Amino acid sequence: MSEAAKPSLATFPAKAFAAQDSAAHLGPHTIARRAPRPQDVQIEILYCGVCHSDLHQVRNEWKEVMPTVYPCVPGHEIVGRVVKVGSNVKKVKEGDFAAVGCMVDSCRVCASCKAGEEQYCENMMTLTYNGEDKILGGVTYGGYSDGIVVDESYVLRVSDKLDLAGTAPLLCAGITTYSPLRHWKVAKGQKVGIVGLGGLGHMGLKFAHAFGAHTVLFTTSANKVADAKRLGADEVVISKNADEMQKHAGSFNFILDAVSAAHDVNGYLNLLRRDGTLCLGGAPEKPFPVSSFSFIMGRRSLSGSAIGGIRETQEMLDFCAEHNITSDIELIKIQQINEAYERLLKQDVKYRFVIDMASLKQ
Ligand code: NAP
Ligand code: ZN
Ligand code: ZN
Repeated sequence: MSEAAKPSLATFPAKAFAAQDSAAHLGPHTIARRAPRPQDVQIEILYCGVCHSDLHQVRNEWKEVMPTVYPCVPGHEIVGRVVKVGSNVKKVKEGDFAAVGCMVDSCRVCASCKAGEEQYCENMMTLTYNGEDKILGGVTYGGYSDGIVVDESYVLRVSDKLDLAGTAPLLCAGITTYSPLRHWKVAKGQKVGIVGLGGLGHMGLKFAHAFGAHTVLFTTSANKVADAKRLGADEVVISKNADEMQKHAGSFNFILDAVSAAHDVNGYLNLLRRDGTLCLGGAPEKPFPVSSFSFIMGRRSLSGSAIGGIRETQEMLDFCAEHNITSDIELIKIQQINEAYERLLKQDVKYRFVIDMASLKQ
């Protein structure tokens, strides 16, 4: 990672909230954003969703694969207003609403980038935060901030039909569930499971229902059953109840696991029918054991999926505008972020915290 900022590039200060180390609470911080280049879009951030990944990253729980560089400004569910565009920008204009998700660049020349799957860039996408800032040097800073400057190729258009705050979580929780459901061609006539009713899980439910699948939600929280049905579940299973789980053995085409903590995935593999797939969306801190018999019996697959490419993210946002889909949110002030993290750990969010970035001015 390049060390110091390259001094030749003009920058401007932006207000932000940052963690100074893995144990620290987030607090006010000032960062430098680059002045827009001809291909760049400058966005005033209005809302930013709070993903469980922000918490994993701030607490350095992924130190084996992507260690956190401090100060860390999280946030990759960004919506706002375009305040300035470079001379070559065509996608958006000043005054438009626009969005930014989990990546702000990629190599653009590898097979994955050429296929529009930039999230699997063979030279590593530039993550919106805690990524290598190839332009200014140092590390990228995310959406817990009043502004961001992003190359137009990684900026998304946002419909003015949808509630803006409820749109923010679509940029990570939305695309991370939409993409695997599309990839595995989830449709009417299939039985599909979603595991965990949090930020990702509740969007997975909405999409699986919208795609016409018979959708079953697995939860550890008995108090979420009514909400799950309202959000699109045809059935709800309390996953701690072995008898309830057993009733569904061998019956699922596809299960999307959106759990943030260690849990037994063998139980879910056994619910798949022949050739069924269990896809991991969740990224718990520690590895977990799997039994080969869970795969052998039924030729089952275990897979994973990361966010989605830019083309598919735009497709998802357009699908949501057409079908009036947004996230169910709890709007918070940035000053409540540390409390929101504590509540995330207690599975106490309905179903995504979104920061009203106007609070950063307070
Ligand atoms: P979240 O809102 O905190 O939801 C996680 C849910 O998991 C909880 O609501 C809970 O659902 C369930 N859960 C939590 N602890 C559990 C435990 N010990 N045992 C069983 N279930 C448990 O988190 P999120 O923002 O949706 O993120 C979920 C995971 O996906 C995180 O690990 C995050 O980093 C990861 N993620 C991955 C990608 C990707 O590209 N693959 C993108 C974004 C996020 P119930 O109360 O219903 O049981
Ligand atoms: Zn996320
Ligand atoms: Zn690439």
